[in-house]
Amino acid sequence: MSTILSVRGLNAYYSLTQALRDVSFELVRGGITTILGANGAGKTTTLRAICGMVKVTGEILLDGKRIDRLSTEKIASLGVAHVPDGRGTIGALTVEDNLRIGAFTRRDREVSSDIQKCYDYFPRLRERAKQNAGELSGGEQQMLAISRALMLRPKVLLLDEPSFGLAPLVIRDIFAILRAINATDKVSMLIVEQNARLALGLADHASLLETGSIVMSGSSAAIQENDAIRQSYLGY
Ligand code: ATP
Repeated sequence: MSTILSVRGLNAYYSLTQALRDVSFELVRGGITTILGANGAGKTTTLRAICGMVKVTGEILLDGKRIDRLSTEKIASLGVAHVPDGRGTIGALTVEDNLRIGAFTRRDREVSSDIQKCYDYFPRLRERAKQNAGELSGGEQQMLAISRALMLRPKVLLLDEPSFGLAPLVIRDIFAILRAINATDKVSMLIVEQNARLALGLADHASLLETGSIVMSGSSAAIQENDAIRQSYLGY
């Protein structure tokens, strides 16, 4: 099993606040890793650091090559797509235009067929193709945000709390589709979540972040069996 993304000794600061402390983990090629943690643990900062949106010390390697000094645009063009918290879709543009924007780094002619592929994964978006994104429900906006990221044809998909604010049935559908995308398109995924039960059900590997430090890492199965995690994060 090879590694697609390595994060080594990452430190990040917001003026005097240290948000990440010596954070290290790896994402296996084709795998799904989750980073779990409570509010303010540093989950969003970790994803923003990988995308070049937060200054860090330490190393981030994609396919063995350093990306931690590159611009966000360059990192995206190398195949790292980010589905941010708040989703980041453009409300005043149609669903279809949002998807075209997602392909901004691409030079190939397969953009239209990839839009159809997104619609196959999320048929609700096909029905709403000509509607403005701002008119979509929360669940549909999350589907659009994921689809827009897929339009980059990413090697690595970074997802920031994809379950946030959504109804249980919608969450179930979205997570099932993420699993299908991972299996079919071999997109490696890094998902940060507060909903540990959900994330551990999807991911094969997990790390636990507490006040900026990774305090535990292992297979999802092993983490699920850990008593401290069960009590603090799974509530049983
Ligand atoms: P949540 O689940 O609440 O989104 P999180 O695990 O994603 O939390 P981060 O958003 O990464 O946590 O925040 C980590 C720490 O950095 C927190 O102490 C937070 O207050 C601080 N922080 C985050 N963004 C900023 C910012 N723009 N300016 C100053 N401090 C920040």
